[in-house]
Amino acid sequence: MAANVMEIYGSKVFNEHVMKERLPSATYKSLKNTLHKGAPLDIEVANVVASVMKRWAMELGATHYTHWFQPLTGITSEKHDGFVSPVGDGTAIMEFNGKELVRGEPDASSFPSGGLRATCEARGYTAWDPTSFAFVKDDVLCIPTAFVSYTGEALDKKTPLLRSMNALSNQAVRILKLFGKDVDYVSTTVGPEQEYFLIKKEDYEARQDLILTGRTLFGAPSAKGQELEEHYFGVIRPEVSEFMKELDEELWKLGIPAKTKHNEVAPCQHELAPIFDTTNVAIDHNLLTMEMMKKIAPKYGLVCLQHEKPFEGVNGSGKHNNWSLSTTEENLLDPGDTPPWRTCSSWCSWPPSSRLWTSTPTCCGPLWPLPATITVWVPTRHLRLSFPSSWAKSWKLSLMLSHPIPPTQVPVKMKMDLGVDVLPKFSKDTTDRNRTSPFAFTGNKFEFRMPGSSQNLSDCDTILNTAVAKELKGYADELEGAEDFTSAAIALVKRTIRDHRRVIFNGNGYSAEWEEEAARRGLPNKKNAPAALPALIDPKNIALMEEFGVLTKVEMYSRYEVELEHYSKIINIEALTMLEMARKQLLPAVNSYMSELANTAASKLAVSESISVRSETKTLGRLSADADAMSDAIDTLQDAVDAAKALPSESEKAVAFHDNVLPAMDALRAAADDAETICGEDYWPLPSYSKMLYYV
Ligand code: ADP
Ligand code: MG
Repeated sequence: MAANVMEIYGSKVFNEHVMKERLPSATYKSLKNTLHKGAPLDIEVANVVASVMKRWAMELGATHYTHWFQPLTGITSEKHDGFVSPVGDGTAIMEFNGKELVRGEPDASSFPSGGLRATCEARGYTAWDPTSFAFVKDDVLCIPTAFVSYTGEALDKKTPLLRSMNALSNQAVRILKLFGKDVDYVSTTVGPEQEYFLIKKEDYEARQDLILTGRTLFGAPSAKGQELEEHYFGVIRPEVSEFMKELDEELWKLGIPAKTKHNEVAPCQHELAPIFDTTNVAIDHNLLTMEMMKKIAPKYGLVCLQHEKPFEGVNGSGKHNNWSLSTTEENLLDPGDTPPWRTCSSWCSWPPSSRLWTSTPTCCGPLWPLPATITVWVPTRHLRLSFPSSWAKSWKLSLMLSHPIPPTQVPVKMKMDLGVDVLPKFSKDTTDRNRTSPFAFTGNKFEFRMPGSSQNLSDCDTILNTAVAKELKGYADELEGAEDFTSAAIALVKRTIRDHRRVIFNGNGYSAEWEEEAARRGLPNKKNAPAALPALIDPKNIALMEEFGVLTKVEMYSRYEVELEHYSKIINIEALTMLEMARKQLLPAVNSYMSELANTAASKLAVSESISVRSETKTLGRLSADADAMSDAIDTLQDAVDAAKALPSESEKAVAFHDNVLPAMDALRAAADDAETICGEDYWPLPSYSKMLYYV
């Protein structure tokens, strides 16, 4: 295997290498203009590309093509159309033309549209995104596309993302020009770290909750959790290792640069991180990675869980969104060793606006442990490193920050001495890390850690890009007109830091003190989705999105509706699953075991009144109380679900599911989990946490 990595890498992708090799040179040139400069593509060119693409895909076994897109559910959608076309004499040819390549027409009516459908026809279009290469998967030529309504409203996650990337590029180009750099385009880059769990297929299949909702809704904690901290970076189980190898291979064939793999903190938890890419490509690749993980796991007797919190009591899974800005030459957030323009541009790109924090609706469901207040972690020394030395007087800026470090201590490149001569000496990084910050600057990029493992990163990146575009626009407007650029720039930096320092927090983001401090600073603390989602229809945020042509008011409202509805639907499914499991599996199990205990006690007493039945009596007493509590909780939960569903608006429903249904689910679970701890193992119908998490 090892030897042919270079051979298989990208072998299923219609990438620039293939284009260059197979397309007539004029076609290649004009496609390249589209790819790199955003030039429109004419139909003649599309026809040639389509025909070459079809031949290439057929050589890889493809018989069908699909426009591959990301509706508002966040997952990917595909409808396969055959190349086959009968010619009338009983034979067929394989056809695929430019029109089919650039535009598709799936029926939009069965995808969530959040009211957009009411105002327009059911018809929707998919449009080719040539910047994300087509690929062959499962004998199908997949063409990454954006999905819009008949009247042009975005019905997907990709369209606003692409718009936000352009918005940011336009503003970043202006800023670079101020520093004497002439570039056509600034890309946003993303490297998503994907966490996931792998458990045995037989355990998965024995649990209705995992099958229907992706997480365990019942389950007493395992005697051993993650407290020994032995799983993180631990030796990888053989079957998991085999899974990872096949996964890497399949991803490499698809041109996905899977790079790092390791065990994560929780038992059975793992992570995969690719090398970063342009945002839309990175997100397409992340979605493909998730799909491949799910597909490949069963071959090894495993199932891949991508829910953000599959097990109570151990860590959940995240998807860290590592984000930066770069030109074709360099990463603009890399402070580098030397100050010139590059370091100047990095402060400009630092997104200090509180607007960003209030408009992010991605604090996920009720299960996510990260602090709901979004702050930035920017080590003081990094702020300082970001200034050119010619701006020496700006060192005093550091005094404005909470923990200034005297300039003499700036550890640009310090040697690390490990105290043992045989070990290599190496340079110390210029920053340590902060693992509790939701948005940390990690040396040459920001790491947004709030998204859950199942999320499509397009939403948070769309917001991030647009908020940064807004800031850069303000900077550019101010500096372009300045008489003395340097002093205007210094004044701007000072003012920006002063106005926004409340979002900088470099302490422990998990602590209770921080929650109080955040409230004191007036930072929003939206703890759950129904509380956070109204940010989508906040006029201030709508104005921001409209200013940059990223989302219209109608599109924002539609997303608000879709997200609320989705939230309620998820909790509804979970509640109904719990009710069914409790009624049909768990209560009957408790009753059988109680009957066994009662029979044992009665038989014992029949032999002799003097034989003790204390243990049976004690267990029976506790189980009986649990059974009663379960029965009552079932009634309460059913009522809460019925009441929530009967509410007239989506926002009221979502609030009721959060405020009333979730606590009723917790009560049912608490009673059932207590029963599990004392019920005979042969009677309990579900694989336990210890069996699932510590399989051999
Ligand atoms: P850690 O877990 O220590 O944060 P990893 O190596 O697991 O680091 O992941 C770091 C991620 O950050 C990788 O996916 C990497 O590609 C990504 N990354 C690195 N540089 C950039 C950049 N300039 N833009 C976006 N993502 C980046
Ligand atoms: Mg990380």
